[in-house]
Amino acid sequence: MIFFTMRQNVLHVENVSLVDIAQRYGTPCYVYSRAALRFAAQEFQDAFHAQNTLICYSVKVNSNIAILNEFARLGFGFDIVSGGELARVLAAGGDARKVVFSGVGKTVEEMEAALNAGIKCFNLESAAEMEALATTAQRLGKQAPISFRINPDVDPKTHPYISTGLRENKFGIPLKDAHPLYRRARQMSSLRVVGIDMHIGSQITDIAPYREAAQKLVTLLDVLEKDGIALEHVDIGGGLGVRYRDDDHPPAIADFAAMCREIFSERHEQLILEPGRRLVAEAGILLTQILYLKPGEPRSFAIVDGAMNDLFRPALYQAWHPVHQVTITNVSDQTRLWNIVGPICESADFLAQDRQLALRQGELLAIGVAGAYGMAMSSNYNSRPRVCEVMVDNNQIFEIRKRETVASLFSEERIPSDKNQNAC
Ligand SMILES: *Cc1c(COP(=O)(O)O)cnc(C)c1O
Repeated sequence: MIFFTMRQNVLHVENVSLVDIAQRYGTPCYVYSRAALRFAAQEFQDAFHAQNTLICYSVKVNSNIAILNEFARLGFGFDIVSGGELARVLAAGGDARKVVFSGVGKTVEEMEAALNAGIKCFNLESAAEMEALATTAQRLGKQAPISFRINPDVDPKTHPYISTGLRENKFGIPLKDAHPLYRRARQMSSLRVVGIDMHIGSQITDIAPYREAAQKLVTLLDVLEKDGIALEHVDIGGGLGVRYRDDDHPPAIADFAAMCREIFSERHEQLILEPGRRLVAEAGILLTQILYLKPGEPRSFAIVDGAMNDLFRPALYQAWHPVHQVTITNVSDQTRLWNIVGPICESADFLAQDRQLALRQGELLAIGVAGAYGMAMSSNYNSRPRVCEVMVDNNQIFEIRKRETVASLFSEERIPSDKNQNAC
């Protein structure tokens, strides 16, 4: 979190104090550092500059159009998983020709929209989906560029909910089914076979599973090539981990790039990456204020205004986020073990557990490394308006999403009128 620093006992994002942001925009609130986004993007660009590579940011991780625009301007492509995400990419100034479309359940409407936009590739995940796309493209008089997502059956050694490349996961097609499917796709005139794809999981902190899976892809590429099926690109997905706690040791991007160079050195295809978390996680924090302290035995609770609807990862995966105090005033205060919890009526509603801190009512906390799967997974549970998002660039602050209003939460709801009560 190098763009979040303590200065005169106040936590700053770049050159802006988080106390100022709380005063101007209220809490809870997501705060992003633009420099941190650019820094992470640059790391990928530097590591892969010698290879023919397209970096497709995974939109689902943080889909605010200001963030998408940042990556679009750096020449990135996008990995989408819905028609909604395609619309966001286009609204943000992204280039449809650099969009790859992942996901196991693309609807016909989504396929149509993506065909009309002219995306780079559909990453197909089943024979049934291939048939549906072929029919849809035929009807529109178009040829759909496709790849198959291979499930390489490797263990990414991450949380089971974010492991996607094992045989028992719903994702991709088994390696042994790939060749027959490619042959079948080649015969369909409304499909153009252009690539191969994998995505084995998320928050991966070891390069070995990537290497193992990539080697399996290369073996398959050789088989396909011998059969006259030449591909234009190899997409190795996303999943690179980040450092949530000090003892997380995610691989350096340069080492990851070196592995790719080694495995694909003899190959001519373009390399596609789909990083998400690694590009945005460390660029964001959730700023929240302590409402009440409830010291007790065996647990003490600090009740904050942010909650599981704002940042779902702790409740969903028991994920650990660092907690930073925004102002340090009295270092001699007694510390105790706190659970940082929200106001929601669920025992899973915590942001952090067992933190040894000296807390005061009313103080601000920054929940760190929250730029990925934070705002994107937020909901309106308990009729809580979704929070605002601000982006800091040096000493400037941009409000990139307004806080929702309570009225907007039920503005699309209707009470049945009495007149219609007997209608069937
Ligand atoms: C979620 C997802 C990604 C991004 O994963 P990260 O772990 O955030 O890098 C990339 N590709 C696909 C297909 C995904 O579903």
